[in-house]
Amino acid sequence: MKEKENTVKRYVRNDILLILCLVLIAAIGLFYLYVLRDHGDTVRVTVDGKEYGNYSLSQDITEDIYTGKDGEYHNRLVIKDGTAFMESANCPDGICVEHSRVFRDGESIVCLPHRVVITVVTSGDSNTPDVVI
Ligand SMILES: [Zn+2]
Repeated sequence: MKEKENTVKRYVRNDILLILCLVLIAAIGLFYLYVLRDHGDTVRVTVDGKEYGNYSLSQDITEDIYTGKDGEYHNRLVIKDGTAFMESANCPDGICVEHSRVFRDGESIVCLPHRVVITVVTSGDSNTPDVVI
């Protein structure tokens, strides 16, 4: 009886070790996926779903985006040190200004009240083929 109990305990311990290993591997994988995710190189700005402009992430710029009927909505997009962020905006919620800087492919800042969307993309990933025969 005693021996069987020990065997069971050993199995349980092995299972726990195995699970810990799997969790660790998954955590490392997620970490790498997050950290090493492709950095985008272009910031695409759309207003109300329409393309407003594309800006290179490698150039520091400050772009004032005026939208709305008479341009009463204002968002200031700043690209600095390879990251993009909304420096200021006169939207009521201010969520876009509080958003952290974006620089990874697919990341975006959305200003819902002004319908302004800033998305980091990698230029030439879907529109232009890499190899032209
Ligand atoms: Zn906003």
